[in-house]
Order: sequence, then C-alpha cells, then structure tokens
Amino acid sequence: MSSLQPVRGTRDLIGEDQRRYRHVTETARHVSGLYGFEEWQTPIFEDTGVFSRTLGETSDVVTKEMYTFTDRGGDSVTLRPEGTAAVCRALVSNGLTQSLPLKVFYAGPMFRYERPQKGRYRQFHQIGIELIGPAEPLADAEVIACGWQILTALGIADSVTLEINTLGDAESRAAYRAALVEYFTRFAADLSADSKQRLEKNPLRILDSKDEGDRKIVADAPTIAAHLTPLAAGFYDSVRNSLTALGIPFVENPRIVRGLDYYNHTAFEFVTTQLGAQGTVMGGGRYDGLVKQMGGPETPAVGWAAGIERLAMLIAEPKTDAAPIAVIPAGDDAEAAAFGIVQRLRAGGIRADIGYKGNLRRRMERANKAGARAAIILGSEEAARGVAQLKDLVSGTQSEVSLDALLEAVRALPSGSPA
Ligand code: ATP
Ligand code: MG
Repeated sequence: MSSLQPVRGTRDLIGEDQRRYRHVTETARHVSGLYGFEEWQTPIFEDTGVFSRTLGETSDVVTKEMYTFTDRGGDSVTLRPEGTAAVCRALVSNGLTQSLPLKVFYAGPMFRYERPQKGRYRQFHQIGIELIGPAEPLADAEVIACGWQILTALGIADSVTLEINTLGDAESRAAYRAALVEYFTRFAADLSADSKQRLEKNPLRILDSKDEGDRKIVADAPTIAAHLTPLAAGFYDSVRNSLTALGIPFVENPRIVRGLDYYNHTAFEFVTTQLGAQGTVMGGGRYDGLVKQMGGPETPAVGWAAGIERLAMLIAEPKTDAAPIAVIPAGDDAEAAAFGIVQRLRAGGIRADIGYKGNLRRRMERANKAGARAAIILGSEEAARGVAQLKDLVSGTQSEVSLDALLEAVRALPSGSPA
C-alpha cells in the first residue's frame, strides 16, 4: 500500500503552524469577549437546506463548493461551508429569538470544494462574530471595531485595509438591480457562462465574478450610490461617521458585494496585498433577512468571519511556551525518585519533563536541545540524602537544593531562555 497522504486541500497543523493557529483563535476569543461576545459551537454538518436555501442559489459556495452527501439514512447533509447560517439556525432551533440582543463568537473548521492554493483550502478554519438583534448602524460599527481590535492585537492592523460599501435596503436594491440588468444586458454576449446565468437570477452577483473578461465589463458598471433610498443612504452615513469617530481608517469600495446573498446595508472586507489572490482576511456585513429565512421572526443582525489560515500567515511567529525544566536521574536507582520530582513540579504548575533513556551526558544534551531552562540532576546517593543538583542552564551555575525546597527554587529562577 502506498503511504497515506492528507486529502487534497487539507493540512495537518503541527509545531509552528499549530502555534500560529492557536494564537489567532485565542486572541480573537479574548478580544471578542471584551465586547461581550459569547462562544457558541454548532455541529460541523447540517441539513443541506440550512445552506442551500440561504446562501443564494447563484453563489459560488452553493453552485460548486459544498461538500454535500446523502447519509446512510438517506438524508442530505452538508459539511458547513460557513458559520452565519448555522448560527441563525441554532438561534431559531434553540428558541432564542426572544432573548435578543445576542452576541455570538465561533471558531472552527469550514469546508468548501475549491481549487487548493496558498491561503485557500478545502478544510479551512474561521473565527467569526454575530451581533443579532440591533437594527442600528452603531451595531455595524461595533462589529467592525471588534474585528479591527483583533487585527490590532494580532499586530497586523498595518497590513490590512478596511473596505466598506452599502448594499442598501430592499427598495434600493431593486432599483440597482434594474440598472445592472440594463447595463449587463448590453454586454450579455461577452459575459462568462456563469455570469449569463447570474444576469437572469442575480445580476448583483456578476460584480463578484473572478472571470477576467467579466471583470473588465464590471469595471464600468453602475454603482448603487445613485439608487439608494434616503433611508439607506442615511444608514450608510451613520456607519461611516461612527467609524470615523472611533478612529478606524477605511476606504469605500463600491464593488464589494460579498460572496453570499443574505447581506443588506453594510458590507465590508479587511484586505491585504500580502497574500496574492487570497487577499480578503475578514469579511462581513448586515444580514437582516437571514433569521426569517431560517424560519424565525424578522431579526436584524450583523457580523463577520475571518480565515484563520490567512491571519496566521500574516502574524509574526508567536512565542513558544515557557522553557521546560529537565529532570535527569543519574543512575538507574534514582529513576523512581526523579519521576516523583517531575510530578511534583508539574503539580506545582511548572512545565517539566524527564528523559527516558541514555546516560547522564546524553540526557543533558537532550535537555539543552529541548531548550530547558534548568536541569535537576539526581544521583542515588543524593536521593537518599533528600537533595538534588539544580543547574541553571542560562547562567551555568549549579547548586545543591533540598527536595522539599525544589519547587521554590525553580520558581525563583530568573526568567530568561537559554541561548
Ligand atoms: P474568497 O473571495 O477569498 O473566496 P469568500 O468571499 O469566499 O473569500 P467568505 O465566505 O466571506 O470568503 O469567508 C470569510 C473568510 O474566510 C475569507 O475572507 C477568507 O479569509 C476565509 N476563507 C474563505 N474561503 C477560504 C478557503 N477556501 N480557504 C481558506 N480561507 C478561506
Ligand atoms: Mg470563496
């Protein structure tokens, strides 16, 4: 049998990759907590309808990216391609639509059948927040501010640009749709096959096309600005004013429509030039119609999702854990006592390890290689006297310490890691 490889578009997270992943997730969890977002976990698969009925029948995700299969009971289920629809489903199924507002944070794997490349995988991971209930533009600003603070805490605020747009309300959208149909119909013959379909079903979606030919036509397409109702224009003004008041820099990009159909009013993306074509690190907006589509009452909401892999590529290498203490028995009859010491250190909250094999010299070498802060060397004669040698691997000094005082002595080591 040939050796087994991970499935195309999936990755193992080991060593630095996992440290980066964890740092992004923990930072987002912490910062979103400061804003009152509470973590939810929803299943990683749902009835297919949760996604197919809400993300938009012409969206890339629904037309070609979903991992959908029939399970052994004959039900069609889908590995979740995104989190928002699942959170709204959970809101309705758990009867929480009367307990608003709710602030939800989530983190976990998502699945899309895409062409794998740097920053684009088939199993990828997202962090996301949803603020469910408030219809006020201030909520949009708060959600963006939380994203901005996470990017700042990750040290990458300087590498990203916030781009915002409005998709208007239903009335603005209908007027804009008519203008787009009028415009794109003139170029219908030159549009990609996908976009010809979109022209019939959802012309707005053409603005999001990645096809080169489509993009040239899109460049001169009308923008929504002229079609906004006073209400929608006012909403957009408020969002921009709030961002300015909060000191969050942004640029307007009238081409942002987002990949999924459920958005209205605010749409935004944090983009970077450092990841090639995979430049969007965080994207979101308002989705006032989604909860109702899911079978709940009319419920305004706004949120975003960010790709953990893309964020992980932008951040500086996170710090490793504190250097361990190496416990080294010198001679076989000191093994048991050494194991007692390593357990006491761990119980005392100290990261400690014991080597299983080799003579004293070999074990010292391994302790140095592991970046140990200090070594505790225990001979059988010393064990009998209730003492051990504590060797500071940074300063090189060594002293005899009574076993009862070891935990204290280790805690008293000046912090610092060996060269
Ligand atoms: P893109 O335009 O890059 O395909 P998208 O609009 O499909 O992104 P969203 O559905 O808005 O992405 O998901 C939010 C974020 O999740 C993206 O901004 C990106 O950081 C991340 N993301 C989306 N798809 C993938 C993927 N296949 N692999 C890695 N990260 C992804
Ligand atoms: Mg996509």
